[in-house]
Amino acid sequence: MRAAAILYPCACMLCGAATAEHQRGLCPDCRQRAVQQMRRLFCDAPKPIDRLVCAMPYDGAMRHALIAYKFYGRYDYERPLTDFMAEAWEFHGMPLPDAVTCVPISFLHAHRRGFNQSERLAAALARRWDVPFVPTLRRRMFSRRQSKLPAAKRWQNASRSFLPRPNCALDAKRVLLIDDIVTTGATVQACAGLLRQMGAESVWVLAAARAGNLAKSGE
Ligand SMILES: [Zn+2]
Repeated sequence: MRAAAILYPCACMLCGAATAEHQRGLCPDCRQRAVQQMRRLFCDAPKPIDRLVCAMPYDGAMRHALIAYKFYGRYDYERPLTDFMAEAWEFHGMPLPDAVTCVPISFLHAHRRGFNQSERLAAALARRWDVPFVPTLRRRMFSRRQSKLPAAKRWQNASRSFLPRPNCALDAKRVLLIDDIVTTGATVQACAGLLRQMGAESVWVLAAARAGNLAKSGE
């Protein structure tokens, strides 16, 4: 084994450069750029969401990293992704939630892909913050994937796609809903509406990335 492989066991999630263990999957240059982007990324929370925070814009290297994580088994990206999501949450001054939950995927998609990326990110954040991870919602068996639909159809599809899990009470809890990518916001809005019906006092959303033209400078 080459010395470099021992000293630098992981590669930067965004540029592929060798990184040391303590850099947690992002090289200093990419981290600096990502922090600058994170600070400029303004996310308006559509009702009934109380607060929406997205860690990065869904473009360039971040888009490639998320695709690799979601579809090509780059599970090692989970740590830099959750680090960055937690950093964004803290940067926006948000308190810890009472429970963390996630946007569900259907049984068929989970079976085909082997995992639900939003659930894994949510569980990792819950462990990090030492708050409970609670599965709250399920997706209807034959719901259509949002990414296959034009924007105008996404709202209609989202509101029909999710159901509350039975015996799940969220009385007066501040619930944090995790998604990997927020595009139109239709999915997280539909989920947030159900979480409110289930008794959540506040519904906050934290996503790894924001897609589409809704990302704009908050300055
Ligand atoms: Zn890098």
